[in-house]
Amino acid sequence: MIIDTHAHVNFNAYKDDSEEVIRRSLAENIWMINVGSQYTTSKRAVEIAGKYKEGVYAAVGLHPIHVGEEFEYQKYKELANSAVAVGEIGLDYKAEYLPFKEKQKEVLLRQVELAREVNLPVIFHCRLAHNDLIRTLEQSNIRTGVIHCFTGTWGEAQRYIDMGLYLGFNGIIFKMNLDEVIAKAPLDKILLETDCPYLTPPSVFGRNEPIYTKYIAEKIAKVKNLSYEEIIDATTQNARKLFKI
Ligand SMILES: [Zn+2]
Repeated sequence: MIIDTHAHVNFNAYKDDSEEVIRRSLAENIWMINVGSQYTTSKRAVEIAGKYKEGVYAAVGLHPIHVGEEFEYQKYKELANSAVAVGEIGLDYKAEYLPFKEKQKEVLLRQVELAREVNLPVIFHCRLAHNDLIRTLEQSNIRTGVIHCFTGTWGEAQRYIDMGLYLGFNGIIFKMNLDEVIAKAPLDKILLETDCPYLTPPSVFGRNEPIYTKYIAEKIAKVKNLSYEEIIDATTQNARKLFKI
């Protein structure tokens, strides 16, 4: 079994065939966590998860690029009761989002607070902002979560690992050279994800889907010089432990 710990089948890219996509995935024994980025997509993630007894879960949160939208603590708290994580939340310092830097930090802290209150792990999004995110985390008590789509340096990876966090790898590992981080990251600190519909692995064409998590596992196995089975066994155990699924 494989767990895609970061999918967006709750997004519009799947509005016509989300059930089909999920069925294909579950048929291959690939589970998924659909991650929200705004209130609407968080709610949709929870609704989708509610239709499945197992294998499909939800995370709820307000993404840093969407902080123009109000973060309504109570409304997210209600959704969080049916979720396995708070996310994706974090910091995004891409040039166009820099004007909202302070707002991003404020919304991040409120959601970290929510995660603590509801006792859920956190799925962090972080682009060009590792120093600020690490500083924020060191000041908080959050020690359960994952840095999704990790693209930082090995030094940054170590700081997250030392805090007890996991690193999530997806198709970006085919675009950027993360071999050093992948090779050095302990097997018990790695999670697999797709971030679908984005970041499609090069061996497939078009929209990404949870079924393609297997290509991430294959690439990690190659870099770590371990078998495919060792990678999927370890990462599935990690995901089940972190998200209690
Ligand atoms: Zn995402």
